[in-house]
Amino acid sequence: MNRNEVNGLLSFVIPCYRSELTIEKVYNEIVETVAERPQYDYEIIAVNDCSPDNVLGVLLKIAEEDPKFKVVDLTKNFGKHSAILAGYFYVNGEYIVNLDDDYQCPVNELWKLIDAMVEGNYDCATALYERKKQPLWKRLGSAVNLQMVNMFIEPPKGITVENFFVIKRCVSDEMLNYHNPYPYVLGLLMNATHRITMIPMKERERGDENSTGFTFKKSLELFLNGLTAFSIKPLRIASVVGTIFVLLGVIYGISLIIRKLMSPQLSDGYGSLLALLLFSSGVIMILLGMIGEYLGRIYISINNTPQYVVRITKNLNKDKSQKVNI
Ligand code: UDP
Ligand code: MG
Repeated sequence: MNRNEVNGLLSFVIPCYRSELTIEKVYNEIVETVAERPQYDYEIIAVNDCSPDNVLGVLLKIAEEDPKFKVVDLTKNFGKHSAILAGYFYVNGEYIVNLDDDYQCPVNELWKLIDAMVEGNYDCATALYERKKQPLWKRLGSAVNLQMVNMFIEPPKGITVENFFVIKRCVSDEMLNYHNPYPYVLGLLMNATHRITMIPMKERERGDENSTGFTFKKSLELFLNGLTAFSIKPLRIASVVGTIFVLLGVIYGISLIIRKLMSPQLSDGYGSLLALLLFSSGVIMILLGMIGEYLGRIYISINNTPQYVVRITKNLNKDKSQKVNI
């Protein structure tokens, strides 16, 4: 079906950021797991998202010894989602296995995902973690993100996609059609397919002492991306809310006039006027901000801001590495 598709080839895509101490463990676990089923082979595409530590050195060292280990190095920190799409560009496999670099994804449970996909003819099988080992603000962030996704992208009921999931090549190929900067993988995935199954498993602790690479700022950025990238509903909500406030303002104003006419001794009520002014200018600012989000997005898109830029690659086809600005 696809140009380079090889039956039974699993393409692992790993965005790498601050993981010089864990990535080798992840690599070893992948090799051991795939070896359990001789009918499958692997390739690993590790994308260095301009990590400040020496993870690139570690990646290149592994790639030196294993030609199935392929490295993509980005010019700056484009974020996890751009790094994932950069990886998708280079895959050759039939199944794309997505996982993190910090040894949190239970790779030893991989076959549960693959089997579920093959048996149920699904396009995506994702881990469903029983208990989240995450700081509170991160959990809150994920919960808000999930709600937002449910509201605006309308996934099949009750479906959540974790950081460990397998998709078919047709899905990743479709996701590659999104060329704008700041992609949102979950939204793209849901846009491409609803044939998703969830398999319960346990997420592990990070394999090193580092904390999460997601700062509060990054999580907030991701939230705004998800909110505005896939739907114009927020704009509509803004207009509806704006209209309601304008109506309330009119009703309140009329009631004030009537009260003043009925009892002229009432004071002029500068206080309520001021409150109303503050309130309505607040609403206007929210609406303007909302529109600004979309305008900024359009501006960035027509400005040809790259989704990612590849600096060097290792063990990869040369002409693909020429692709620097998609
Ligand atoms: N990541 C990335 N770029 C970043 C931050 C994170 O590519 O700027 C990758 C990181 O290498 C890892 C994944 O995103 O594979 C998840 O990151 P992390 O484990 O820090 O986040 P959490 O597990 O808390 O979601
Ligand atoms: Mg992690």
